[in-house]
Amino acid sequence: MQTNRLDAQRLTHTYGQGEAAAPALADVSLTIGAAGPEAVAIMGPSGSGKSTLLHVLAGIIAPAEGTVVWRGRDLATMRDGERTKLRRSDFGFVFQSGQLLPELPAVENVALPLMLGGGSRSAAEAQAGALLHRLGLGGMLARRPGELSGGQAQRVAIARALVGSPGIVFADEPTGALDRGTGGAVMSLLIGATLGHGASLVVVTHDPEVASACSRIVRLEDGRIVSDERAADAAAPGGAGPDVAAALPTVHSYGAAVAEQRVANPMPGAAAQQPWIEVSR
Ligand code: ADP
Ligand code: MG
Repeated sequence: MQTNRLDAQRLTHTYGQGEAAAPALADVSLTIGAAGPEAVAIMGPSGSGKSTLLHVLAGIIAPAEGTVVWRGRDLATMRDGERTKLRRSDFGFVFQSGQLLPELPAVENVALPLMLGGGSRSAAEAQAGALLHRLGLGGMLARRPGELSGGQAQRVAIARALVGSPGIVFADEPTGALDRGTGGAVMSLLIGATLGHGASLVVVTHDPEVASACSRIVRLEDGRIVSDERAADAAAPGGAGPDVAAALPTVHSYGAAVAEQRVANPMPGAAAQQPWIEVSR
């Protein structure tokens, strides 16, 4: 069995060239999941390179220097299509907001990664529905993102990140657009459900409370790791129960066509929000 270990060595990244060059990552090395699933908070001031690090770890952008090795394979040696597939099957993503496709009901948003991976629509929606039930959204399957509260939308996004049973989930300020109470509840769910699925979590956050719920805190400053601390009372797996097949209400069926169209014609900048869409590097 392959372990879900992500090994980043000596990552450097610079945006722009010449005079305009801005170093965003400088000699960052980090191993995640070496001893089983863990929840890692990435903290640091605005502009310190947190999002860049997340995108490099997830193979969304290629580092200028350094390597990212996932389950023993160097991401840089993969073809674009292979890396896209890997992002879809092995990685899950949760962003601050706006990542759900507005035309699709919640259940179809969650089913989408499975369908893109070749799963049948009915199986994908059954699995998506069951997971949404488990995450407390059983009554929301047919709602579109615009009909959900911010916290509910993030829980749908968490379900979408987990539905394909990823080995690692990347989250970039997932509670940044929520009020404190809602954010706390969403974070507990994210940590519990991710570890409960046997995956590690890498979460960028400004919130010390969120960070303290993680088992490890990595701090960045000016693109460098300035500290990497493990909490004494590491977050324990939990939160996600066994799979329960759920009776699903009928859902609209034009969603898949909309999704296919979107995937064929991704909007500019879509890659960062829809990481299962192929990005050219
Ligand atoms: P954080 O997520 O910690 O706020 P980022 O990783 O977004 O930091 O940014 C790190 C640095 O890289 C900042 O100086 C930022 O201005 C710069 N940067 C980020 N994205 C781009 C980009 N697409 N083009 C140019 N510079 C960028
Ligand atoms: Mg950021």
